[in-house]
Amino acid sequence: MENEAVIRLSGFIGVLLCMLLCERMWPRRTWRQGRLQRFAINFSLIALSGLLQRITLGAAAVAMAIYAQAQGWGLLNLIELPAWLMLLVGILLLDLAIYLQHVVFHQVPWLWRLHQVHHADLDLDATTGLRFHPIEILLSLMIKVVVVAALGISPWVVIIFEVLLNASSMFNHSNLRLPETVERRLRWLIVTPDMHRIHHSVHRVETDSNYGFFLSIWDRMFNSYTQAPRDGHTTMVLGLDYAQQPEKLKLQHLLIMPFVSRTKHHE
Ligand SMILES: [Zn+2]
Ligand SMILES: [Zn+2]
Repeated sequence: MENEAVIRLSGFIGVLLCMLLCERMWPRRTWRQGRLQRFAINFSLIALSGLLQRITLGAAAVAMAIYAQAQGWGLLNLIELPAWLMLLVGILLLDLAIYLQHVVFHQVPWLWRLHQVHHADLDLDATTGLRFHPIEILLSLMIKVVVVAALGISPWVVIIFEVLLNASSMFNHSNLRLPETVERRLRWLIVTPDMHRIHHSVHRVETDSNYGFFLSIWDRMFNSYTQAPRDGHTTMVLGLDYAQQPEKLKLQHLLIMPFVSRTKHHE
């Protein structure tokens, strides 16, 4: 597992550069804010979260997966499955857990206080996909450790899923314009930029839909799917309806946002 950090980092940098390049070449919407200004904020949040993870739980999910396997804990450690099925079932279960966690972060007021920082971005690009309040990142990590132990997911499945999830998040937050037919077909299985953008709408009814981060099937299955934004993809307003001034969305404001801002936005 000593290669884990290398796999993660190269996956992160490779996909990030690729998405930044693609969204520059084929943009979906015009930017509201200066890109460099947003990069500074988003990368600071990503770096802070990464640092916090390193000095606290680190690769806790993988460590827990190794321990659970040794102890024979968790659902999947009770049964023998071929590797490909293990991967498939593991990814499905972890992705479902992430979907459910996302719903809970929207519905429970004090969790929304943390999660609203992700929604406060006034534009979307690949960096938004990893921009969360550091406490939300830490909390998600703890939840993941419990889920991995309970389900008995193999360590290598956890690593593949995490790389996949990060890549998917950078992809579906990107400002990339996909050809219509490609978008439509892709969306049957995975969350596309057009699908996730609706989740970043200022309209509450749209924000509380399209919770998926990787597979799009859960939103259809649990009836939280929105097909198209009411104001159109290129003209819809992104962010929080109560926090639309960029000068109040700098790094220092975002870090204290969970402790000062209201708990739920209006329709
Ligand atoms: Zn959300
Ligand atoms: Zn998002």
